[in-house]
Amino acid sequence: MYTLKAPKYFKSVTLTLFVLLLSGQTIAKDWLVDSPKAYKKTLEKVKPGDKVILANGTWHDFEIVFKGIGTKDQPIELTAQTKGQVILSGQSNLRLAGKHLVVSGLVFKGGYTPSNAVISFRRNKEDLAYHSRVTEVVIDNFNNPDKRESDYWVAIYGQYNRFDHNNLTGKRNKGVTVAVRLDSKNSQENHHQIDHNYFGPRPILGSNGGETLRIGTSHYSLSNSYTLVENNYFDRCDGEVEIISVKSGQNKIRNNVFFESRGTLTLRHGNGNIIEGNIFFGNGVDHTGGIRVINKNQSVKNNYLEGLTGYRFGSGFTVMNGVPNSSINRYHQVENALIENNSFINVGHIQLAAGSDMERSAVPVNSTMQNNLIFNENSQQPFTLFDDVSGISFIGNVANTVAHTKLISGISQENITLKRAENGLLYPLDRKFAEKGASKDLSPILKSATGPHWYLKKNNLVAFDSGKVINVKAQGDALFNAVLMANEGDVLVLADGDYDVRKMIDINKTVSIKAKHQGKVKITFQRSTLFQIIDGGSLMLDGLVISGSSSPDSSGNTLIRSQKWGMVENYRFVMRNSTVTDLDTNHSFHFFDSGAGAFADYIELTDNHFSHITGDLLRLNKEIEDLGIYNAEYVILKNNSFDNVAGTLVNLYRGGTDESTFGPHLDMSNNTVKNSGKGKRNKTAASLYLHGVQVTSIESNNFENTADIVIEHTVGEPKTLVKNNDFNNTATVSVKELYVKGSHTAVLVNNKNSK
Ligand code: CA
Repeated sequence: MYTLKAPKYFKSVTLTLFVLLLSGQTIAKDWLVDSPKAYKKTLEKVKPGDKVILANGTWHDFEIVFKGIGTKDQPIELTAQTKGQVILSGQSNLRLAGKHLVVSGLVFKGGYTPSNAVISFRRNKEDLAYHSRVTEVVIDNFNNPDKRESDYWVAIYGQYNRFDHNNLTGKRNKGVTVAVRLDSKNSQENHHQIDHNYFGPRPILGSNGGETLRIGTSHYSLSNSYTLVENNYFDRCDGEVEIISVKSGQNKIRNNVFFESRGTLTLRHGNGNIIEGNIFFGNGVDHTGGIRVINKNQSVKNNYLEGLTGYRFGSGFTVMNGVPNSSINRYHQVENALIENNSFINVGHIQLAAGSDMERSAVPVNSTMQNNLIFNENSQQPFTLFDDVSGISFIGNVANTVAHTKLISGISQENITLKRAENGLLYPLDRKFAEKGASKDLSPILKSATGPHWYLKKNNLVAFDSGKVINVKAQGDALFNAVLMANEGDVLVLADGDYDVRKMIDINKTVSIKAKHQGKVKITFQRSTLFQIIDGGSLMLDGLVISGSSSPDSSGNTLIRSQKWGMVENYRFVMRNSTVTDLDTNHSFHFFDSGAGAFADYIELTDNHFSHITGDLLRLNKEIEDLGIYNAEYVILKNNSFDNVAGTLVNLYRGGTDESTFGPHLDMSNNTVKNSGKGKRNKTAASLYLHGVQVTSIESNNFENTADIVIEHTVGEPKTLVKNNDFNNTATVSVKELYVKGSHTAVLVNNKNSK
């Protein structure tokens, strides 16, 4: 089944064709195949210049091996009958091996790879791909359902390969999205090109292993890679602290856009990398960062960074301290770094000699920061110096703020007014600053110029209340059925009345459940759990009265929980204006319990009343292996009252010493807590138990007759603020540093203690 592709000159130059045929030259053929078997047979026959075309439709469980030897002028192609209409689903993947191969038009979705990569530029360790290209391919939410199982979406081996115009969206399980591997001689000095790709949203992983692009590994980091990464769009790539982790030498990263992505481009290992013409738009989003410099001979020029809030190793710009005679996997000293003509506009933090400690004591040397533009609308100068920075020469930099006292000679304070130019970037109006900061001819790559044009760049996150409004009556299984029938984003509005729910309600979509009249909807439930959030689910409750009075008379009931084990999709849970009471049919009746492997983007409780609960309120403590994994990124409690909660209000646990995450965060303000945390079965014996939480704010709450607040700091320089609280007959706050020597770093101010 194939068609002959006649050359354009077929009629006019029949003689030439005849001669070509006689001389044994092949004519390119198109081979349309409609089954894996036909594909395999065809592959044995293809010649340089041929095209293997997969028929439109869904190919389930198809592990493609694309092996062949094409030529520069006549590559062998693998493509779709219609680009975008060949879907690889189930346990599918693609391996390329040989030379001059081109793959295009395929979509991987609705499954995951059974191997360690969806697309691999090698068949096995010996058989790699060279001079090959993968273009206009989509990998969309193609995730192992066990989030802790690690795989790459794309593993690039060999040399002179190109990966371009692809769309990679929604990687949720562990493992780097695109990894350039340098693990053998044949994959080093590779000259790969990674360009015009759309790196779509990668949600927070909640552990290490969420990098979007990694080039090399520490083991081979003194090898050169010569990989070019240009004109890519990184859209909310939030996986972990490293968006790009460069771990090899002589790479160029240029003209990429980083849009609202949490984390940084990190020059983690390897020397002589060039970072040029990149644009970072943070838009004030939490933990948006820029560039982090480590190692020798790094050049950071003509980059534009705006609206970045990140701090510490996630800052808008960081130059690290090194370890003297560092082992290959620690921190090599910064030497001969050139940091020139960058614009740092509303970049909250620029940190120099960062990470300085007993081990990391080698300060940056022989380096230069010159002609950079630094502008902070809030008039706060952004520099923090953690050690001696005399090894960095500051020349000709300008700022609108008074510079850090130690940098004053190399950063002059100027009266700078900025104006947004046609390219969307801010530049000083005054021409005397024309040579400062990023150049005017930068042209940020447009999202629309990346990825295949035929595949929609979706926002995977469905907002609450973005769907239809559905009215629900207080009768029979109406609530259960309404949730079952609801679509993404729908709002179920409950009529006044009593709802005694017979069956556990699974939440597998984004749905809001609201009382038509606040306080007039009373829900009781007969199973051990009322709502279970499962993969794909997010829940908002508003204005309800929920009672445990008709729940089973057994211990361990839970009003709301996430699926007991292994969710791959992050969820959100919000409750407002509601009353939860009488969770006391037996002991250990909890309000909310996370399953192991579940991860909440946020949990928000605002303006609620909780009373008479025999168990815990929020149990976010299921990652007990101490691997830096945790259950919720943001936990927010505002304007609630808690009375007689026997267990722990918030048990939030991130164990271990890993530093690849920004969270968890706890924000607790304006709550009233009474008679809580004092149950004899409360295992933490605390009202709040926070272990390894990175950002904590406990402000303006009233605690009365309540158990201790226990805060255990681990690594990562956690920020803890306990301010303006009233503690009435309540043990005060206990803060412990578990790893760092010396006194704790929490800020406790203006709290009132009374008996
Ligand atoms: Ca990492």
